[in-house]
Amino acid sequence: MIDDPTLKMQFLFSLRKAGIVDKQVLNAMERVDRKNFVNRVFSEKAYDDTPLPIACGQTISQPTIVGIMTQALQVKPRDKVLEVGTGSGYQAAILSLLARRVYTVERHSLLVHNATQIFKRLDISNITTILSDGGYGLEQQAPFDRIIVTAASDDPPSSLLSQLKVGGIMIIPVGQSDNIQNLIKIAKTDKGYEYQDLQPVRFVPLVAGTEKEQ
Ligand code: SAH
Repeated sequence: MIDDPTLKMQFLFSLRKAGIVDKQVLNAMERVDRKNFVNRVFSEKAYDDTPLPIACGQTISQPTIVGIMTQALQVKPRDKVLEVGTGSGYQAAILSLLARRVYTVERHSLLVHNATQIFKRLDISNITTILSDGGYGLEQQAPFDRIIVTAASDDPPSSLLSQLKVGGIMIIPVGQSDNIQNLIKIAKTDKGYEYQDLQPVRFVPLVAGTEKEQ
């Protein structure tokens, strides 16, 4: 929970202004304190609407983008969700309040380690964090009701499309990393896939393989 009432009000105001109106999403974002997920050096910027650097040259996304993606995902309480790109763990922590179970995969072992520690400290018990190349999804837990990808790829990876349930939704930024990317929403129906453009975004690229660090 964000302690300072003024900061909390400003934070929630910026989310509403960006079009986040879903009460459950706003409530979850109020309950998960972003300060827990940013480096202490940036504590003062924790509630600013800006991405911030985390370990391994990666970034924690900007809160309004997290809100827009979470809202577009339309998570239901019984859902099993896959997140590709754990990063700081912030997005996963928000999803953990909305879904039954969250699987989050990350290619940097240090980020997996850090996020796991934070989830433990915050007593979040329905997130499983896994070191793997999320481009292949997570076959052993598939299919998923919802999939959220927080790194950009040229096209939605076919493994992810196939691991989505019929009736499921996937949110993913697509496009080259140095160009404008588009956030898209993919709904899987019994007739195929429906694609919807949401808005331009900028994410770090989805990179193949995994990295082990000390
Ligand atoms: N959702 C995060 C922000 C993600 S930044 C948060 O809430 O903080 C994108 C993350 O995707 C980075 O940590 C990066 O290492 C990871 N990533 C990139 N390619 C990946 C891949 N193929 N598999 C898993 N994770 C990947």
